[in-house]
Amino acid sequence: MNSTLYIVIPCYKEQEVLHETASRLKVKMESLIAAGKISSESRVMFVNDGSSDNTWPIICELHESDPLFSGINLSRNRGHQNALLAGLMTAKDLADMVISMDADLQDDIDAVDAMVDKYHEGCDIVYGVRSSREKDTFFKRFTAEGFYRVMSFLGADTVFNHADYRLMSKRALEGLAQFKEVNLFLRGIVPMIGYKSDVVTYERGERFAGESKYPLKKMLAFAMEGITSLSTKPIRFIATLGFAVFAVSILMLIYFIVRWAIGATVLGWASVICSVWAIGGLILLSIGVIGEYIGKIYLETKARPRFIIQDVLDDKFHS
Ligand code: UDP
Ligand code: MG
Repeated sequence: MNSTLYIVIPCYKEQEVLHETASRLKVKMESLIAAGKISSESRVMFVNDGSSDNTWPIICELHESDPLFSGINLSRNRGHQNALLAGLMTAKDLADMVISMDADLQDDIDAVDAMVDKYHEGCDIVYGVRSSREKDTFFKRFTAEGFYRVMSFLGADTVFNHADYRLMSKRALEGLAQFKEVNLFLRGIVPMIGYKSDVVTYERGERFAGESKYPLKKMLAFAMEGITSLSTKPIRFIATLGFAVFAVSILMLIYFIVRWAIGATVLGWASVICSVWAIGGLILLSIGVIGEYIGKIYLETKARPRFIIQDVLDDKFHS
């Protein structure tokens, strides 16, 4: 029972948190190694997502001071999901199981023990699920939980209140490698892989330093990405809406003909203008949603690389 664990951590401008994160994880890894749950070949792998600050020099320094820390340097900023994928795809060849987490340790690292135990019990995927979000701001909690609700309403099969804190076995990662989509939304794809899975709950803490790299704009973009890459329901809604509007206009037409027949006065200008604007708005909205999907198709057909790795610091890695 000497399985190798890699903890993969995407880092974007995380110079304030890296030292603290590294020392906390070192304690955790050493206790797991001492308990015989993971092999001494296990590593903490930081993925530098094209940060412009000192993130990469700090990762290099950590790697030199202790081989427990390894690093990947991406050629430029590609966003959280792609950085995570770069780490997972590199780690899958070096490890038996990989846990992904954020650099700010908002996800309780004590859940790692339970995840590793579940792995030894035969699970291929273990989802970390937040039991509460008390420490998040009201705004973050409201938008994030709303997002999970909308996702499930639209038929996307995601795990409620699970972000990207999860354990995946080597074969689950090999499954993930077969998903070639460029529009990457990991927490929607992972449940599609299958295999035995389980859930570990934990409390989400506060960021101990630095600030969130997910402002509202990025959160909205991420939500849009998630919905349109997992579900085609919005397109179906538009068709239904279009049909409903058309039906209403037919009813209106009948009503007006009846009014005309009985000699009532012509209805006002306001109602005409209102309906012109309403229909115009609906058409623009519909074109926008369809455009979003066409944009996706466009990007997928190009099949551009999802990340480009510039350097790898890991004593087991041979390119
Ligand atoms: N991150 C990244 N690339 C980006 C933005 C964020 O790799 O372009 C990383 C970031 O360093 C962190 C994780 O994604 O490890 C989650 O970001 P953050 O904690 O800022 O998000 P929040 O917890 O506020 O949702
Ligand atoms: Mg965070």
